[in-house]
Amino acid sequence: MRFSVLSSGSKANCTYLEAAGVRLLIDCGLSGLQTERRLSSLGIDPATLDAILVTHEHSDHLHGVHTLSRKYRLPVYANKATAQFLKPLFNTINFQSGEPFSIKEVRVAPFSITHDASDPVGFTFLAEGFKFVQVTDLGKVTPLVRDAATNCNAIVLESNHDPVMLSECGYPWELKQRIASTHGHLSNHEAGSLLAEVMHPELSHVVLAHLSENSNTPDLAERTVRGLIDDLAVSSVKYLTCACIAQATPLFEVGEESVCEMAATG
Ligand SMILES: [Zn+2]
Ligand SMILES: [Zn+2]
Repeated sequence: MRFSVLSSGSKANCTYLEAAGVRLLIDCGLSGLQTERRLSSLGIDPATLDAILVTHEHSDHLHGVHTLSRKYRLPVYANKATAQFLKPLFNTINFQSGEPFSIKEVRVAPFSITHDASDPVGFTFLAEGFKFVQVTDLGKVTPLVRDAATNCNAIVLESNHDPVMLSECGYPWELKQRIASTHGHLSNHEAGSLLAEVMHPELSHVVLAHLSENSNTPDLAERTVRGLIDDLAVSSVKYLTCACIAQATPLFEVGEESVCEMAATG
């Protein structure tokens, strides 16, 4: 199982996941061209993708979905409430939140999250004996989210803001309220607390995602999260890093000691 967060932040979110020979994008908030460039920088030919999965309809998750779906004849998996916001695609396959489905040998479980969208979800992926979780754009950690994150080997988790920086930044009051609400975005501390709860000896990769440019810094997010998990006896995290807008993360290999050696650029 391999993955890279091609982009993450308030402007564009896109994750590449490869498992059991299946190549997927989770959301595509980059342009089609940028997505192609970043995949190529990791040695992945965009023509070899199998499908795109969509978490919710916000534009930072959708921008390139239409272009890539049509260009590469990719089916797009989305629940009905989200699919109604999509432009005409090569093919749309509806799933229901809470009901697992399969893409070839990959078992996908979409789970509901609290966020100000129609029917937003996070995803767990089971394949090759590993569990990968992607969950961003959530206002709070619910029991469903905790269940999804339990026993995962790799997780892309929202660590959106630092509450003090958020309160002091130049955002309008209404926006600050929205971000901090139970239907907004997860703080660094909330992300770290969830990780501390679900930490187990087989969790090796943590990528903090959807970091705010105005009310967070990668250093602060990482320090806050590390402060909550580093002393745990069961902590086995080998890679803890922050995804960003400017470039893809390395291509991480779950179950291996190292990241793949391809440079992440573009
Ligand atoms: Zn959103
Ligand atoms: Zn978002």
